[in-house]
Amino acid sequence: MSKLLMGGIEAGGTKFNCAVAYSPDKILARLTVPTTSPEETLSRSLGFFASVAKQHGVIGALGISSFGPIDLDSNSAQFGHITSTPKPGWQNTDIVGYFKEKLHIPVYVDTDVNAAALAEHRSGAGKGLANLVYYTVGTGIGAGIITNRQLMSPTHPPELGHMRLPLHEADDYAGCCPYHKNCLEGLASGPAIEHRWGINAENLPPEHYAWTLQTDYLAKMCVNTVCSFAPQRIILGGGVMTQLHLFPRIRTEFLRLMNGYMSSLNQDNVDEYIVPPKLERPGEIGALQLATLSK
Ligand code: ADP
Ligand code: ZN
Repeated sequence: MSKLLMGGIEAGGTKFNCAVAYSPDKILARLTVPTTSPEETLSRSLGFFASVAKQHGVIGALGISSFGPIDLDSNSAQFGHITSTPKPGWQNTDIVGYFKEKLHIPVYVDTDVNAAALAEHRSGAGKGLANLVYYTVGTGIGAGIITNRQLMSPTHPPELGHMRLPLHEADDYAGCCPYHKNCLEGLASGPAIEHRWGINAENLPPEHYAWTLQTDYLAKMCVNTVCSFAPQRIILGGGVMTQLHLFPRIRTEFLRLMNGYMSSLNQDNVDEYIVPPKLERPGEIGALQLATLSK
């Protein structure tokens, strides 16, 4: 008996990673579609699933891990819509309804960070832990919080990416969050780095001062996270965190700011405390895991 295929979309502000798989760890086909207008991006993603289905057989369900905010309350009229996103053109986009209507299959959705947090919890850097916080630092900044092995507040997830931080004394950048200017996302997302320095974050050398500011803001973010949720681990993913030189710098600055306040966190264990993801694409694996849900 042949197994049904499943589809997954990691819907990001920069790109949509689409995948078809027999199981989350057995990917058959992938396509990356740049995030332009909703019409173009959604129809190109749909075209990919249609062509893979034509070649390999029926796709039984689709999981979407999406940038947001996205309405996850199944009782809401806006369920499955990307709502007040800063991403131009994407406000009030019914991403779930679109694929349901076109593919006629069950579509499951969660935030990109919730899905990635669950994936890292199930099979990545947070395996076996009861409490963790997963951040993505990319086009935006968001967090998925696992407490007692469950997502915290699954239908109304907190928006840690928009927390306020003390400004670095040498930073005169106004910030780029359209809602708050210099919230965490407005100061430390990929676009914030690019606007502040006029260079793509990926092209800044490790010795550039940009990374000193980035270290400062992400270390403050980790301190606020520990003080708010006391997780057993903080996982930092997303495009910006592929700059692995940031990790030792953030850990050192984090401990300096904590100043011994929680003695259980120290030099001996901080390397295991603030870590990169273990999965290569946690958001995509998380999307495929959503498609395996039978609700
Ligand atoms: P998305 O937010 O679309 O899911 P990413 O997590 O890759 O995608 O985030 C994209 C952002 O991350 C862009 O602003 C980009 O400049 C930045 N970025 C991507 N790769 C790198 C890198 N190697 N170093 C620094 N920044 C990067
Ligand atoms: Zn903001």
